[in-house]
Amino acid sequence: MSQGMAETGNSGGNIGPLEWFAQPSGPEGGLGLRFSCTMCGNCCSGPSGYVLVNDAECAALAKRLGISTEEFMARYTHMMELGRSLNERSGPYGLDCVFLDREKIPGKAVCGVYEDRPRQCRSWPFWPSLVRNERTWASARNTCPGIDKGTLHSVVQVRIMRDSCEI
Ligand code: SF4
Ligand code: SF4
Repeated sequence: MSQGMAETGNSGGNIGPLEWFAQPSGPEGGLGLRFSCTMCGNCCSGPSGYVLVNDAECAALAKRLGISTEEFMARYTHMMELGRSLNERSGPYGLDCVFLDREKIPGKAVCGVYEDRPRQCRSWPFWPSLVRNERTWASARNTCPGIDKGTLHSVVQVRIMRDSCEI
């Protein structure tokens, strides 16, 4: 059994292990996890990292910017061992994602391609590595001040986002 998970106690069906955030003893009584973005930009900036983009995401972003997919890949991405990643640019807080916009809203940092942001960004902070257990979730708070605040995301919503990403 994985760390941070418990069995449902239902031995008659195909129900799998119940995640810590789905347990009645969990932080929201088993209703899921809270998260609301404060637009601090932390998750899109800092030390060198990666934002993986697949071909379909590149095509959508290219269309948004009115350029070809090939041009988009050449101008805004690079290849890494893990796959194709968005480029970074140096900013006052470290290396920003090339699409992080610190001008649009004073004092905030927002995604400049929000509607077409890659899956890795859409699923944050519900990545498998972060929702694995209470400890990993709590450690993510060091980066993201929106964790455990605001909107309650249901167990099903958390599972869908977790399962949409491999990180
Ligand atoms: S694409 Fe948008 S959400 Fe994703 S890292 Fe870049 S700025 Fe952040
Ligand atoms: S770190 Fe959290 S609060 Fe800050 S921009 Fe990212 S998601 Fe929003």
